[in-house]
Amino acid sequence: MTTVALKDVTKVFQDGTVAVDTINLDVNDGEFMVLLGPSGCGKSTVLRMVAGLEDPTAGAVMLDGEVANDLPPRDRKIAMVFQDFALYPHMTVGDNIGFPLRLSGVEPGPRGERIQDVASALGIGDVLARKPSQLSGGQRQRVAMGRAIVRRPGLFLMDEPLSNLDSGLRAELRAEISGLTRELGVTTIYVTHDQAEALTMADRVAIMRKGVLQDVGTPTQVYGRPATLYVAAFLGSPRMNLLEASVYVHLDRYVALNLGEQSLYLPWDDIRTRAVAHYHGERIVVGMRAEALTPVAPDTQGHVLQGRIRFLEHHGHESLAFLDIGATAIVVDEMGAPVENAVPGQRGLRRFGHVMQRLTGRTVDA
Ligand code: ATP
Repeated sequence: MTTVALKDVTKVFQDGTVAVDTINLDVNDGEFMVLLGPSGCGKSTVLRMVAGLEDPTAGAVMLDGEVANDLPPRDRKIAMVFQDFALYPHMTVGDNIGFPLRLSGVEPGPRGERIQDVASALGIGDVLARKPSQLSGGQRQRVAMGRAIVRRPGLFLMDEPLSNLDSGLRAELRAEISGLTRELGVTTIYVTHDQAEALTMADRVAIMRKGVLQDVGTPTQVYGRPATLYVAAFLGSPRMNLLEASVYVHLDRYVALNLGEQSLYLPWDDIRTRAVAHYHGERIVVGMRAEALTPVAPDTQGHVLQGRIRFLEHHGHESLAFLDIGATAIVVDEMGAPVENAVPGQRGLRRFGHVMQRLTGRTVDA
């Protein structure tokens, strides 16, 4: 079993760069935790501190409940996989996979058996005699994985392990990696800047920005109920609509969100409306995903917002309509049919559906 806990962990490099700023994060036993964020936000530095390759400037890195700040990397029962695979070019695939076992003095007999087991599990059992240069990128990454799991580590640390591969192979390997780590029950911390990778692979995602942890939760939680405006805007494609609105509560019957030229009315019987009602008389930012907005026919009665279609984008599985609602631009997922006959510039009514995502309240983007 391996758990990881970061307690107020900070890393300031010698040149004064604050790479990681007072991070608190728990990774449970057997959990697949993804660290997600743009380049330079400090993900790798966190990983390197967990590995013991970098010392925290302040705070504690805890492994299995014990402070591990002074524990050398070799005593941490971890295995790392990097972006560049770092295989030994002069060794065969089998020797590459078995290298950690040889280092720890495992006899050739049992070593060979273990190599064979691991290679079969990864689907590279038939290339053990080859050199890395005779492999495809995907096979090389599998060898790197094999070398990492051969010693049955308690903790996997992976730093952008798929970023050198083409997109088809990335999708294939991402399913394999998450399947394999779950099968093995190994706690994993996986670093990536690719949100599709993060959302599809993770049990939980930790989103970082400029060294600061912004949000931690399951993919559904961070996508549906982002903790900050930054996370709301960062996750998802198309980006979440973020509209400024003034809030008016009407006699406990409905809440009006004044968006400028038009208003959006929220029914009182929706629990989310009460949360917004709290901000009566104030300005807030409302977050709505494109897929949460329902297009309706132009003659629909009731509370609808009217918008002018600026342009349409067809993605095969979905079509997006980019609209102007007064001075505000929003994007709506047309869900197929309604957009077929729409012409950019045409005026149409677009209703904000009841499946609105969380209203982000007064969260301030630092
Ligand atoms: P990427 O996805 O590009 O690898 P990252 O999120 O992993 O980025 P880090 O590599 O952890 O980010 O770097 C975080 C910050 O710390 C960056 O501003 C980087 O330039 C800085 N940094 C990293 N290593 C050092 C170092 N040895 N000395 C000084 N600054 C460093």
